[in-house]
Order: sequence, then structure tokens, then C-alpha cells
Amino acid sequence: MCGLYYRTGSQWLPACTVIFYGSEKVRCLNFHTHYPTGSPSVEEIVNLRPGESSGVLPRLYSAGLHPWFLTEMSLNSDLEWLRSYAANAIAIGEAGLDKMVNVPASLQMAAFRACIVVSEESGKPLIIHCVKAFDAVIALKKSLKPAQPWIIHGFDKHPQVAGELLRAGCYLSFGKALFNDRSHAARSLQAVPADRFFLETDDARDLEIEAVYVRAARIRGVTPEEMIAGGLGIDSIFML
Ligand SMILES: [Zn+2]
Repeated sequence: MCGLYYRTGSQWLPACTVIFYGSEKVRCLNFHTHYPTGSPSVEEIVNLRPGESSGVLPRLYSAGLHPWFLTEMSLNSDLEWLRSYAANAIAIGEAGLDKMVNVPASLQMAAFRACIVVSEESGKPLIIHCVKAFDAVIALKKSLKPAQPWIIHGFDKHPQVAGELLRAGCYLSFGKALFNDRSHAARSLQAVPADRFFLETDDARDLEIEAVYVRAARIRGVTPEEMIAGGLGIDSIFML
């Protein structure tokens, strides 16, 4: 059961109750998580990177080379790992560019470009980690014209940046920043069309996806059930 509560009329109900008891057949999608719950009421895309794929694999996973963990030494073996997991992954990523991390920009770009190639060759959407490198991502999107959808996950930037990414054809995914009043995430979420965004918990261990849906619904002025019914589901951009 969720730790968060949702107000309906004069009553406070647990978030899960509000979302799921009313319409059992709709399941919400956690677009990107590092901590799978295995909950039957949630579809979750579990992020894997090299070294995280031992044991039983999640039903839905993305496989990618995160810019934080790149090294010159391991790039070739990391790519080999990625290619071997791409066929059964639902998406490639997270992969991308991060200007706040102490990994050479050239290495980040090489790994990101390689992930783009794998995404295109395997026919899987690309989940993107991007920190202060939106211009570079948009430039790549415009020059490479990938057939696969690109989704910027953990989006917390200004609506103007959201608009540029949407115009370039990208999708956005929102999560924990929606709970931070100093973040621009909520304002951006208000402005994004319902068919262009996902919701996620990412690396927030204590955050439940139901709570993200409740929060996002409140921000957009709809009910959580309407959020699920009117938003992008697991079959939206993925070829299952
Ligand atoms: Zn992540």
C-alpha cells in the first residue's frame, strides 16, 4: 500500500486505492526505475547497465550505457554487453550526455552515439539521461533523424526547454522533481500534451509510482485514473 494519500471530496484515501480499486484493468506504467517492485498493478521498465544483468532478468527492461559509469577501458566490453541484451530489451538506455560528471565529453559522445546505433539497429526506443546537454541532444536528433522514439527521462527543466525537445520530436518522462516546488518540472508537465510524456520513479527508492501519478494528476487537473487512461501506456511507443 502507498504511503501517500489523495484527497477526494472530504476523504483522504491511499493513492493506490484511488487509482486501482475504481478500475482494476488499468495498470500504470513506471517508465524508468532502478528498483523494481514486482507489483502486479504496475508495469515497470527496469534499467540495466553492464554488471547489473546477472540472475533473473526483469520482464521489461532497458539496457544502456549510463554516462556516469563509462571508462575508456571498458567501452568495448560494455558495448558487447549492450548488443547482447538489446534483442530482449524493451528499450535502449539510459544513455546520454551529462556535463556535471567527471567523464570526458568525447567518451560520453562516443558511447551515446553507439547506443543510438544499437537503438536504431534493434528497433528499440532510446531512454536518454541528459544533464545540461539538451542542445547537443537536439542537434544529434536533427542530424541523425532516428526512426526510434527518444525519451528524455527525469525531466525537470523549464517549459521552454520542454518545448524545444517536443518540437524536435522527443518525448519526456517526469518523476521525483514533481515533488520539488523549486523545480520547473510541474510547469513543464502542465504544458506537455498527454501523448508525449511518461512518469517514472528512477532511482528514488522510497517513491512509489502511484504517488507520482497522483501528483502528476493534481498538477494537470485530472484524476489519477484519467491520467492512466489518457496517457501513454506500455504499448504506446514500444513494439511488443
Ligand atoms: Zn535512471
